[in-house]
Amino acid sequence: MQNAKDLKEYREELKESLDNEFLRTTLDNFAVAYKAGRANAFKDFDLPQLIDDVACAKDAAASRIEELYEEFKKTAEAAGAHVHLAKDADEANRIIADIAKKSDCKTVVKSKSMTAEETLLNHLLEDEGLEVTETDLGEWIIQLRHEGPTHMVMPAIHLSRHQVKDLFSQVTGKEQQSDIDKLVKVARRELRRKYVEADMGVTGANFAIAETGSIGLVTNEGNARLVSTLPRVHVALMGLDKLVPSLDDALKILKVLPRNATGQAITSYVTWITGRNECASAEDGKKEMHFVFLDNGRLEMAKDPVFGEVLRCVRCGACANVCPVYRLVGGHKMGHIYIGAIGLILTYFFHGKEKAKNLVQNCINCEACKDICAGGIDLPGLIKEIHARIQDEDGHALPSILLGKVMKNRKLFHGLLKAAKFARPAVADGEGYLRHLPMMFAKDQASVRCLPWPTTPSATVGKRSSRA
Ligand code: SF4
Repeated sequence: MQNAKDLKEYREELKESLDNEFLRTTLDNFAVAYKAGRANAFKDFDLPQLIDDVACAKDAAASRIEELYEEFKKTAEAAGAHVHLAKDADEANRIIADIAKKSDCKTVVKSKSMTAEETLLNHLLEDEGLEVTETDLGEWIIQLRHEGPTHMVMPAIHLSRHQVKDLFSQVTGKEQQSDIDKLVKVARRELRRKYVEADMGVTGANFAIAETGSIGLVTNEGNARLVSTLPRVHVALMGLDKLVPSLDDALKILKVLPRNATGQAITSYVTWITGRNECASAEDGKKEMHFVFLDNGRLEMAKDPVFGEVLRCVRCGACANVCPVYRLVGGHKMGHIYIGAIGLILTYFFHGKEKAKNLVQNCINCEACKDICAGGIDLPGLIKEIHARIQDEDGHALPSILLGKVMKNRKLFHGLLKAAKFARPAVADGEGYLRHLPMMFAKDQASVRCLPWPTTPSATVGKRSSRA
């Protein structure tokens, strides 16, 4: 049954986000810039073919995920690395804490890793007495604020430079300016010392290549190179879904990932790591290298005929960029750890029904995420399936919190329509009709109706109501 206290709290949180003009303006501006940047980045490509290539490569990898893990283990160990498999988040964190203990590590620098967010790695390492510093600028900001990311690629997109200025002033004990270049310099100055002093570096990985035992890291700030190079111990934590058979498969994904994430043809840095690199601070001149793979339900998911396609996700974050609801409320209300359409799904699988039940109601089934997905995942269909599962388990229909609020507020409703206009190709047919009503209305009589699109005032619901 729905927990009334949670629901009330969630409603209040939503209201807070809906009242946040800065958040909405920032996300709107980003969404418009993203759309233009992405279109430009793909202009010389056959995009459906690229997406199909990613989907095929990821599906093929998922179908032999255990075999690929064994192959990776063999090749990586032959190159001098240690390979570990954790069944869940606690085990992954424990493995990493034990590595730190055995290697007498006291300080850790980290580059951005959604998998480490998934396991809440920092909490355990800090509980064990280690000093952990995030080195991605956005991640460092949210670490200082003791909060989670609001976007998978841009974790601090919800904050203004003035908020960051206040935060940095507090952290450095000196009044800072809100000029972005100056704020970046402050972060650089503070973080450089940490890289040099750190005993252990923790990164994620965008790819794990079975045939060579290598990982690939796709970054813009260069911090992952410092994290994986300077400390004497490097731990890379990644989901089993990052395994691919060969470099060719990784390159197929790399062609789409930065273009779909931020509209960049390629990120500033793409780093490939195999085995133990040289390291001046290591006793034998070579760093200790560990690859930690996280299962946390991925092996089961790979065999699931409905949800198996979730493993195609390359974590580009595009499904948040185009989501009209995300643009209204931001990432903290559109996912527990993972954000956007995929966040609603992964929250259910990785963090449980209780965390997901309020979130899944936010999907208005506009299908914009499905059209933009780098892996061609049927995100709205899967969210619908999760919603139905929760309803079955809880035994009653859940009211749509966000839509209930939006429908009562004329200004917000029009804001939502304006945001949805961005996703128009996905939600409206060529004749100016919304193909699907939002999830909570997609039942009974409403299931056979289409809504007239706002730019075609002469259209009427009745005219099209017999179409379905
Ligand atoms: S579900 Fe698709 S669009 Fe969303 S993050 Fe994953 S690959 Fe990107």
